[in-house]
Amino acid sequence: MCGIVGYIGEKQAVPILMKGLAKLEYRGYDSAGIAVISDREIAIHKTTGKLENLARKIKGMTIPGTIGIGHTRWATHGGVTDLNAHPHASCKRDLVVIHNGIIENYQELKEDLLAKGHVFQSETDTEVIAHLIEQEFDTLPTLSTGNPLTEAVRRALSQVEGGYAIVVLHRNRPDTIVAARMHNPLIIGLGKGENLVASDIPALLDYTKVVCDLENGQMAEISKNSVRISNLQGKEQPLVTRTITWDVAQAEKGGYPHFLIKEIHETPAVLRDVLRNKIRRGSINPQPLGLEGLDLRKINKITLLGCGSAAYACLYGKYLLEKWTRITTEVQVGSEFRYHQPIIDGSTLVIALSQSGETADTLASIELAKKAKPMRTIGVINAIGSSMTRQVDQVCLLQAGPEISVASTKAFSSMIVSLALMALHIGKVRGVQTDDSFLSEINRLPELTSKVLEQEHEIARIATYYIHHQDAYYIGRDVNYPSALEGSQKLKELSYIHAEAYPAGELKHGPNAVIYDHFPIICLVPEGHVYKKMISNIQEMKARKASILSFATEGDTRIAAHSDHVVFLPRTSEEISVMVNTLAMQLFAYYVTLYKGYSIDQPRSLQKYFPKPGEITAPPKSIDIDKPRNLAKSVTVE
Ligand code: GLU
Repeated sequence: MCGIVGYIGEKQAVPILMKGLAKLEYRGYDSAGIAVISDREIAIHKTTGKLENLARKIKGMTIPGTIGIGHTRWATHGGVTDLNAHPHASCKRDLVVIHNGIIENYQELKEDLLAKGHVFQSETDTEVIAHLIEQEFDTLPTLSTGNPLTEAVRRALSQVEGGYAIVVLHRNRPDTIVAARMHNPLIIGLGKGENLVASDIPALLDYTKVVCDLENGQMAEISKNSVRISNLQGKEQPLVTRTITWDVAQAEKGGYPHFLIKEIHETPAVLRDVLRNKIRRGSINPQPLGLEGLDLRKINKITLLGCGSAAYACLYGKYLLEKWTRITTEVQVGSEFRYHQPIIDGSTLVIALSQSGETADTLASIELAKKAKPMRTIGVINAIGSSMTRQVDQVCLLQAGPEISVASTKAFSSMIVSLALMALHIGKVRGVQTDDSFLSEINRLPELTSKVLEQEHEIARIATYYIHHQDAYYIGRDVNYPSALEGSQKLKELSYIHAEAYPAGELKHGPNAVIYDHFPIICLVPEGHVYKKMISNIQEMKARKASILSFATEGDTRIAAHSDHVVFLPRTSEEISVMVNTLAMQLFAYYVTLYKGYSIDQPRSLQKYFPKPGEITAPPKSIDIDKPRNLAKSVTVE
């Protein structure tokens, strides 16, 4: 994720760009920069760190110009450095580009451009776009109609593979901003005598409420009085607008009532980004997984480390790693690992998971593991620049963008997909896992998870039946046991319902004793090799008058007879069903919580609620809390 802003009009651009970037701060970033045209010269100012660093850098400077662009970067290619911050200029500094996304074939393009004499300033994938446009602009035949900058951008983009939202300025076209979109969001704000472009609506709302959402494969030629839309083939397209009725706070949440539900809805897009980065031309790319340069045949043992949801992701990873690689894999929660004497040696691969990269127990565990000199430590992390990114040997980025809601959703989904890709890749290299059907299924996850979101209404309806309960069990077998753990975690951390998860076969070894009439049991029961066993367990529970909510495979005609409620989910292998079940259970926990009337996430400025002695049983509804009780997004204490 990153923030993009562009302005063209009568006013000074810099204050508008800075204000716009500030409105996008919630998206998270590691560097910021602006570029403004004045007197046919482009002034570029950029720096790492927060927006205030950039504000400090330009304070007291006069930067005239009524056309400009601004960017906050969330690094994907190239470290967090001033030179890698956007905007990026072409060799002659005639034009500048800002970009959100990943150019997959940048390496090949860069080699070609270097051979043609282009000189690069940064390590980013983005910079190739600037040089490509420069090349096209300089060699463009004279056009009888149309804007040469738009045409040069179009020709440059025809060579690019991957995802982008880009905005381009050329010093000889101070009347035009050119923008284009493929997979990454870009919205045009239509004002009076001025127009804007941004990656999200909050940056536009101070100037206009009329916006045009650029579609994939569309370009926009923006001047102060007009906006022309075309596609990448050069065909004119209608300018479709809508009027925003949200205020700024609602706009940050994309119009959703909570960050949690917004982030749940971002899952297909996040997975698309993850796959675009980690799968290259149909094969798993070991580099972004942190596996490059490692002799995978020499791994003797894998140790997975995490806390909370990350530990459940680890457990899912263990199941897959052992299935697909036949390497002994252990899961350790950070708070335990750091106090025992772990068995690690030079043939152990240590993989630590943390959304924030700041989880104290996981950081301490990595430190301890490193003392035993493992083969490699890999951090599976969302927050770039976090402590863990500096601590581990290699980083596998989750690319989920900032996760603001305390309860993890999209980052968890990225964790389990990343671990599945690691397991598939290691298994393939070792000659254990040769079935390509899993990779094809993983490739379909953006589509499969979108289908789960289509069930939202039905899940919300079913949730109403479960809001008055104090307890719930989640059960699953094989890979769906870790999935049950995560489902129960979501329910308890959001709705305060006491929820526990068990391998389905374990209920009769104790937990059954607690079951009473209508005790809710949430069953993960996709079709597959443990389906019949699951049905037997469900029948045992029904005999004890439990209420059964089943997450099952679409087309399963038997499950309804055993369940009080069923959510039908897209057909997948059992291994991949975890990814669709996870999303459905997140929606379920969200709606139970919503209907119970509890707060879900919200502005970070608000105080966290700490219960006083005697207040621990029922959360009083009158208390104005905006985060799950007693939880913090990143647990930086032991
Ligand atoms: N891939 C680009 C970079 O690493 C853009 C990242 C972003 O979306 O901020 O600079």
